[in-house]
Amino acid sequence: MSWEDNVRKMDPYIPGEQPDFPDMVKLNTNENPYPPAPGVRKLLAELDADRLKLYPKPDAKELVEALAKAYGVDVKNVFMGVGSDDVLGTAFLTFFTGDKPVLFPDISYSFYPVWAKLYRIPFETPALDENFCIVKEDYMRENGGIVISNPNAPTSIAVSMDFIEDIAKANPDSVVIVDEAYVDYGGESCIPLTKKYDNVLVVQTFSKSRSMAGMRIGFAIGNEKLISYMFDVRNSYNSYTMNYPSIMCGAEALKDKAYFEETTRKIIATREKYKKILCEIGFDCPDSCSNFLFAEHKTMAAKVIFEKLREKHVFVRYFKTPRIDNRLRITIGTEDEMEKLVSALKEILA
Ligand code: PMP
Repeated sequence: MSWEDNVRKMDPYIPGEQPDFPDMVKLNTNENPYPPAPGVRKLLAELDADRLKLYPKPDAKELVEALAKAYGVDVKNVFMGVGSDDVLGTAFLTFFTGDKPVLFPDISYSFYPVWAKLYRIPFETPALDENFCIVKEDYMRENGGIVISNPNAPTSIAVSMDFIEDIAKANPDSVVIVDEAYVDYGGESCIPLTKKYDNVLVVQTFSKSRSMAGMRIGFAIGNEKLISYMFDVRNSYNSYTMNYPSIMCGAEALKDKAYFEETTRKIIATREKYKKILCEIGFDCPDSCSNFLFAEHKTMAAKVIFEKLREKHVFVRYFKTPRIDNRLRITIGTEDEMEKLVSALKEILA
């Protein structure tokens, strides 16, 4: 017997790499190429370092109030965390304690099976169809919970609110988590369902459409009872998850709706423009409702393209996962970054 027998051994989630080259084009972790709202920069510059000697407010009051106002819900309907990973992890820990399997698609955010294993949650992964679409009927059987990324990652494909409503309605005894990390880029948010169904939890993030991945802010909106159970669990391991700068900067970012809408609109326009250009050089991508494209080339293997792009300091994401190992997930950058990507691809494919 050694202490190692008692270790919780995990195959952890592997995030996309964070390379650091001055000349790089970084399109591998779905970050926003535009800076946070100008008010955030100003607020950060003016933050009083003396305030750091105190604990932050455990209820992240300013942030939660701003979120409630922005999304038309009560503060009691809002949970917040250190990125949506923290929020999702807390939701898995809170809601999935039964013996029946939790269901999520075979191709989806690769953190879901990691949390399930960490918390010893049984799970099953119904296969997406041949067009990478979710098969609704697969979620109409006995289960211990359901997790749907909408739009799905890494496929970029979205389903409608009606689609999720059918699943929520058919599963009144399970919590249905809707991970809306990319919803602002063309998806339909299920926040309205949280007012109608007490088992729907919507999770969003400031890492993508709010340009604040470095701040680590995520949140969930749901029925008051769901949210209160999450706080009970969170407060059983750490009551001060949100730091003071994140609380203040998150609240500030929400004030600038015009900036948020403008940067989001620019990314959508760039996505549509470069989807066409990629098609012209032999790629095929499903229609994207996210800030990335899920691209397959007609003749050259994704792994080869990925490696050759890497040599040129152009970073995209490649998953060595069955069914999607001939695809690249390409984050939408600025027009300039996308131009550099296309010229690198042209050289590689020549
Ligand atoms: N959900 C999905 C589908 C994602 O792709 C990501 C980003 N890796 C997250 C959640 C987590 O993002 P964050 O923790 O930065 O909010």
